[in-house]
Amino acid sequence: MQKIKILPTSEIQKIAAGEVIERPANAIKELVENSIDAGAKNITIYLEAAGKKLIRIIDDGCGMSKADAYLCLEHHATSKINSVYDLNNISTFGFRGEALSSIASISKVKLTTKEKDKEEGISLLIDAGQIKLEQPSSCLHGTDIEIRDIFFNIPARFKFLKKNETEFRQILQIFQFFCISHKDIHFKLFHENKLIYNCPATDTLSNRVIQLWDHNLESNTKQVEIIDEKAKVSITGLISNHQVSRFNRSQIFFFVNNRYVKNQSLLKALLKGYANVLPKDKFPVGFIFINIPQDLIDVNVHPRKEEIQFIHPGKIESLIQTAVSKSLENYLIEKISKTTFEEKHIEFPNQSQFVAAFPTTFDFEQLPFFEPIENNVIDNSLELKEDSEKNSNYLDIQNEFIINEDLNDKKNNYKIIGQFKNCYILLESDDGLLLIDQHAAHERILYETFINKFNEVAKVKLIFPIIITLTKRNIETLLSHLEFLKNYGIEAEPFSENQLIIQSIPVHLKDVKLDEIINQLISWIEEYQHLDKVDFFKLINEKVCAQMACKAAVKSGDKLSIDQINQLLDDLQKTENRFACPHGRPTSWNLALSEIEKKFKRDYR
Ligand code: ADP
Ligand code: MG
Repeated sequence: MQKIKILPTSEIQKIAAGEVIERPANAIKELVENSIDAGAKNITIYLEAAGKKLIRIIDDGCGMSKADAYLCLEHHATSKINSVYDLNNISTFGFRGEALSSIASISKVKLTTKEKDKEEGISLLIDAGQIKLEQPSSCLHGTDIEIRDIFFNIPARFKFLKKNETEFRQILQIFQFFCISHKDIHFKLFHENKLIYNCPATDTLSNRVIQLWDHNLESNTKQVEIIDEKAKVSITGLISNHQVSRFNRSQIFFFVNNRYVKNQSLLKALLKGYANVLPKDKFPVGFIFINIPQDLIDVNVHPRKEEIQFIHPGKIESLIQTAVSKSLENYLIEKISKTTFEEKHIEFPNQSQFVAAFPTTFDFEQLPFFEPIENNVIDNSLELKEDSEKNSNYLDIQNEFIINEDLNDKKNNYKIIGQFKNCYILLESDDGLLLIDQHAAHERILYETFINKFNEVAKVKLIFPIIITLTKRNIETLLSHLEFLKNYGIEAEPFSENQLIIQSIPVHLKDVKLDEIINQLISWIEEYQHLDKVDFFKLINEKVCAQMACKAAVKSGDKLSIDQINQLLDDLQKTENRFACPHGRPTSWNLALSEIEKKFKRDYR
């Protein structure tokens, strides 16, 4: 073994720097924090090779005096605290006084800075922590710092960097969270001299979302807000609705007292709030701000201050979950705040009125949405004539006229436009066009009925019992779990060695192929037998209810009467999880008016 040696200070610094700064994104975070701490209102970032070659940050903050410019490169040089006693009340990002010295020790830095109202600034060239040149500078007030060739003197660390795209993605995330938490600052990001983002200061988080992503994401977000006055904790922010899903968590941001933090438990709580709203492997977008008294958190648990600890973590998690699920719930209550549709107000436009609404040369058969219309007359009972397939399409268009007149003054009401392709229910809302997948919605309604109150589901005795042929082994498997079938209102008993006789079934299953359900049940019993009893029953129950709901629900392609549509909307409104079917597919989708206007180039904003 080699003898123990005391490392030279320069080496210690390099090692320490490596701990704080692992990649360009970390350096950028530290530098932008310094700019924010300096009160900057404009922060511009220039990058080359995803920061590996160049990171340059220009701000219009307070700048530094000549003496401070030298000092800031020293270890533990900070203007932000004087002693450890100050640690409890830090409002600035930095306080360790380590970032600049660390970055300077592993790169080539040019620091140019000038205080407000000073004639002259200073420019320093630093190479691996050694000052090489000092020059007066006639720069604007603020600070301009260039970091070239990061890790040039730690090849091992440089080798460890990922390819540019990956490093850039990390930087983008940091850029995004700064933009989101500091709406009052104008941020710009250039990469290889190309402007990637330009985000002028704005008052609203929604605008930031539009600047960073697009109108479409913004129109699919919803505010969250919950305040626990006793605990002096508030949770606010924006989250995406059920129509947005991402493959990863990279667009979920948490801020505690406006400081970005990573915290797995917070993330889990947010995802719990989305239970059943998004497919299992998909993630939402969310910007959550937690405001909490400083003495209820500890920010000093992570060298880069990215992680924090709460004194009462469970409390915060449950607040987040509640805030999220409530906000999602309100979303569709608003969306489907019952389409009132009162018979007595309805007057039908006559054919000439209708046709005149379209150019006379219009070829209806060219319309992708509607089939040709032969008969425009429907009766006031709102029942679709069973024998006239084509009427349904006409009814759709007429309703638009009718309800427009009747409900114009009612706020937040949805107007049924009709059924599209016999698959989707179209509703007009204040802010767009809401499409409801009739099958997914009905599936969700039935699933909740089955899972919550199967006892209340009506059963019918079959006049002609159904005989299902299975293998002997399958019959045995099933016989040991007959209680399942009984729970679902399926009365069955063995009929022969390989046959089962079914005497009664729940009313919803009367048009459903029972043998499929039963075969599926057998395979689930076999698949999950190894689980403990509680999990086994729970899982199979969920699966069977989902399958029955799927089989019993109206299909895509089924024509619905207005009464049925109303019923469906009514029922959907009462379901707990109205955003997704039991398989995780969304039940509805709102096409925002702003998107439609954009498509038609009517968007002047
Ligand atoms: P910390 O932020 O923890 O104090 P840093 O090493 O990041 O430590 O910065 C050291 C000091 O340099 C800061 O306390 C601040 O006084 C000064 N400083 C750094 N960046 C800037 C900037 N962009 N504008 C003004 N002052 C700055
Ligand atoms: Mg700092």
